[in-house]
Amino acid sequence: MPDTAQEIRLASRPEGEPRPENFELAEAPMPGPGEGEVLVRNSYLSVDPYMRGRMRDVKSYIPPFQVGEVLDGGAVGRVVASNSDDLQEGDWVESMNGWREYYTAKGDSLRKIDPALGPVSTALGVLGMPGLTAYAGIHEIGKAREGETVLVSAAAGAVGSVAGQLARIAGCRVVGSAGSQEKVDYLTSELGFDAAFNYRDVDLSQALREHCPDRIDVCFENVGGDHLEAALGRMANFGRVALCGMISAYNLEEPPAGPRNIAALLVNRVTVRGFIVMDHYDMLPRFAQEVARHVKSGELRYRETVVEGIENMPEAFIGLLGGENIGKMLVKVGPDESGA
Ligand code: NDP
Repeated sequence: MPDTAQEIRLASRPEGEPRPENFELAEAPMPGPGEGEVLVRNSYLSVDPYMRGRMRDVKSYIPPFQVGEVLDGGAVGRVVASNSDDLQEGDWVESMNGWREYYTAKGDSLRKIDPALGPVSTALGVLGMPGLTAYAGIHEIGKAREGETVLVSAAAGAVGSVAGQLARIAGCRVVGSAGSQEKVDYLTSELGFDAAFNYRDVDLSQALREHCPDRIDVCFENVGGDHLEAALGRMANFGRVALCGMISAYNLEEPPAGPRNIAALLVNRVTVRGFIVMDHYDMLPRFAQEVARHVKSGELRYRETVVEGIENMPEAFIGLLGGENIGKMLVKVGPDESGA
């Protein structure tokens, strides 16, 4: 066992787009497990858009990161030493102790992963938090029903790709927006979206008129800004907007002006509901069973963009905000279940 372990600390708060110098790769003493604790070696670190919000010193639904301290986030790792009755050496666990190679924690504070459900990395993506976000947003918030039209933005990402496929499985017509032709092809050729467009190349309102001829019953909104405004202008009567994220604003220092067409909500009797996945963990058992079954049968597909090495975590995070990922963005920092 090494004497030290690497971790990424927040060196300074980003202004606008994060830059590599906002992060510091540091060596910390190797932790040892105390009574009831386990020592875990992380294998995969989750890279998530919400982390950008936590780099600001503002109150939100989750506390801000502190300058000079190790960052955190989702991670999957393996127990390498155990003083806990809850976990044994060799068990795979999910935690919020990401951005580092090793950590100690109480055995009963970690979620044990069943590797029989799929590759352990999927616990951070299709079978984890992003998948559950998609599931809650489509079923609980959007209440998507057979025959309806569902629009998904950031559709080729971790959440969007699952949201669109769940809507397809529910019998909806699914339209996706994404930032490159490669992503558009992925949505229509591999994921079974009925239509998709590259938002960088089109007039959004015109694209929605073309691809959503019967208007939009459910808008699964990941982007906000122009995307949201265009979608609001195309909602069907009694449509639902599941407001999941507004990534187009995450790097802005000043919030953008709100949609100019709020009146469309009134005229079309549209419901807009923001939601946070942490309020929907009661759905986890149903979600895990259902989505694992769809993945196993091949009805629901997923991709991961895997960056190697903890030192590349800041680049992966910056890349995620710039759209470099297809599917879930992960950083691999230790061996997976195959030992590789
Ligand atoms: P993704 O895997 O979708 O990665 C982010 C994607 O956003 C990028 O790949 C990029 O794709 C797109 N993007 C970035 N900037 C812009 C922009 N200015 N305009 C349009 N698209 C942009 O991330 P996640 O699946 O993890 O998250 C998707 C959304 O869901 C985010 O808004 C996130 O905050 C939200 N979220 C909300 C949760 C909740 O509980 N409410 C939980 C988890 C995520 P492209 O190439 O298409 O531009």
